[in-house]
Order: sequence, then C-alpha cells, then structure tokens
Amino acid sequence: QKEPWSRGAWVEIDLGAIRRNTRTFKNLLDPRERLCCVVKADAYGHGALECARIMYSAGADMFAVATVSEGIELRQGGVKLPILILSEPPETAIDALLEYELMPSVYTSEFALALGERAVEAGCVARYHMAIETGMNRIGVHHTEVIDFRRSIDFHRGIACDGVFTHFATADDPDGWDYKLQRRRFEEAVAAMHEAGFDCGIVHCDNTPAMILDPASHYDMVRAGIGLYGLDACERTSRAVQLDPAMSVRARVSRTTDPAMGEGVGYGYTYRVPRARVQICTLPLGYADGVSRTLSNRMDVLFRGMRLRQVGNICMDQLMVEIQETSRSVMPEAEIGDLMTIIGRDGDAEISLDEHARLRGTINYEVACGFGMRLERIYR
Ligand code: PLP
Repeated sequence: QKEPWSRGAWVEIDLGAIRRNTRTFKNLLDPRERLCCVVKADAYGHGALECARIMYSAGADMFAVATVSEGIELRQGGVKLPILILSEPPETAIDALLEYELMPSVYTSEFALALGERAVEAGCVARYHMAIETGMNRIGVHHTEVIDFRRSIDFHRGIACDGVFTHFATADDPDGWDYKLQRRRFEEAVAAMHEAGFDCGIVHCDNTPAMILDPASHYDMVRAGIGLYGLDACERTSRAVQLDPAMSVRARVSRTTDPAMGEGVGYGYTYRVPRARVQICTLPLGYADGVSRTLSNRMDVLFRGMRLRQVGNICMDQLMVEIQETSRSVMPEAEIGDLMTIIGRDGDAEISLDEHARLRGTINYEVACGFGMRLERIYR
C-alpha cells in the first residue's frame, strides 16, 4: 500500500483486464467503426485517468464523460483524444470547453449560439455533438425537430457538428418494439438531416448492450462503458462475450475479538453472538466507502478461499464479520492484518459486483461507482 497512513482497505484495479476488454470490444467492431470509451463517474469508480491511458493504448478513439470537470481532469492528465461531454453543460462552462477542447452535447439553440459566439471571439471553431431525443425523454432535440434545430444554429461559423447521437432506454432487448422504434426514429432523423444537406459527422447510438447484441446499430462509432470494466450490462450480453472484471475490493483485519455468547455486535445489536467460540473481526471500511448499509447481516466476505458472514449493522467506516465453525467447514482464526476480500476472487471463491447488486436490488453500475468514493485505489 502506498501511504503510511493507509487504513488497510482499498480498491484494486486490474488494468490488464481493462486492456483485454477494450481489445475484445475493438474486435467486435469493423475497422472503420470507432470506439468511444465512456469514463464518466471516474470510469465507473475504476479511476478515469488510469483507465483512459490503458484504453488509449488498447485502441480507444474517443472518450466520453458526464461533466466538464471530468473532461478537464482527463486533459490535465495528458489525454489527447477527442472528449465528448454527454449532456449540454451550462453556458458558464463555455470558456472551459474551449480552453480544454471538450466537445459538448448540444440540444438547445441558446447554448449552441452562445458557444459559437465565444468561439468566434476566441478565434476558433467549437465542435459539438447533437443529441437526439428518440424516446428516453432525458436529453436531446426531439427527433421530429432536428431540421428546424439545425437551421436555427448551422449558419453560425463558430460551431461545427462533429457528431449526432441518441441513447437507448432498452438496449438489453434489441428485438423489442421500444428499441426498434428508437432506432428507426434515429435513422430517420439522421437521414432527414443528410437529405437537407446538413453535415452529421460521426453517427452513434450504441451503449455496451446494443453494441454486443445488435451489430447493425454500430454506425460510425459506439459508446461503451460498463463492458470495458468487465461487467455485464445484462444477462444476454454475459452469454455473448467473455469479459474480465477489473475491480476487487479488499481490506485487512483491524481487530479481532471473541465475545461471549449473547453479546451484541454493532449499532442496534442486530446480531447477537449465537454460541461460544465465535470470533468477530473488524474490517476498516463501511457504507461511506460504498458497502451499502442495506447489506448488513446479508453479505459475505472471503477469507482464505472461504465465505464468512458479515454481521451487525454496517457502520460508516467499519464493518464486522464472524468466524464460526460450521458443520461443513472448520474455520481458521483470523489475526490482525489478515487479508479479506469484499469483492473479487480469493482462491476458488468469488464475490462479484453483481452479487452485491442483486442483494441491494440495484445494478452493478451503481455498486461499482460507489466504491470509488473514499477508498484508495491500487493499480496492477
Ligand atoms: N452513452 C450514454 C449517453 C450514457 O449515458 C452511457 C452510460 O450510461 C453510455 C453511453 C454507456 O453505457 P454502458 O455503460 O451501458 O455501455
């Protein structure tokens, strides 16, 4: 571990896995189709800069982030590839967009024209991607209004359209009616713009599941996120491609104790020691580190290739696990400093991000982002 004051809990990122996943995705594309790597939310908790560097070396053609500050972080870290911001930033961000050469998504003429004005003053042309609303009702110019929109901004010499895109709400079901309707609306909007003589630049709409399950929708570029980190977007994609999870979460035992039978553990004593000879180990991470409190008394932790039960309410900065002999296994005692795995592999045993997601009633995306917040990251 890096710092002498590290508290013994960290996220491990396997950059080799990210490289392999990026290459796997490149191989799913035709040579002329580009790969835009989505590294928003600090690369889904994996560390934006480190991931962007490895993705670049594995063939990334563009990066996408959610916010201007995420884009600035990449530029300041030396990223040279085009960077797309996936929503329309506030006008107050325009100077930063120009300074750091970040391409905003655009869907209001007010913003587009303000961007153009500032670009002319700065003596440059600002490139943007036009977001098209095809059904998700989140962002974008309505698919029936793209021509009027382009007419209202295209006269401006300070801006140029680098791409047009939409985003699927149901990409895990590309045979479904909703997906097909979004795709048809997108295709018609793009065709109408081409017909009217507007340059569309790079045409793109796919996220990870659409890219894997519907190769005909790649167009000029795909925007892949979750799969690059080795996580399955849905069950169908997990059967279609083999990806390597990149994130593990580990901690060292910070204290052990052998309470008497009947004693409580943690806030509210939601667990009481059920019998004699039960060891309680404390790990120095908690819900402020992304281990949701909703997992209290429900999640497992790995120790020497075996599953241990987490017990008591998960605290903000710490959680406890029990070591208890069962009829099936004789558990070894743990000592201070012993390694335990919250997410990842230990011997033949594995606890996946998906397992936590299932227990929490959420998706692996949210679990991965949550671990990024306070834990130190170690790259290997
Ligand atoms: N494009 C947009 C606009 C997104 O919001 C996202 C992520 O939510 C992605 C692409 C990447 O999606 P995924 O992580 O499913 O590949």
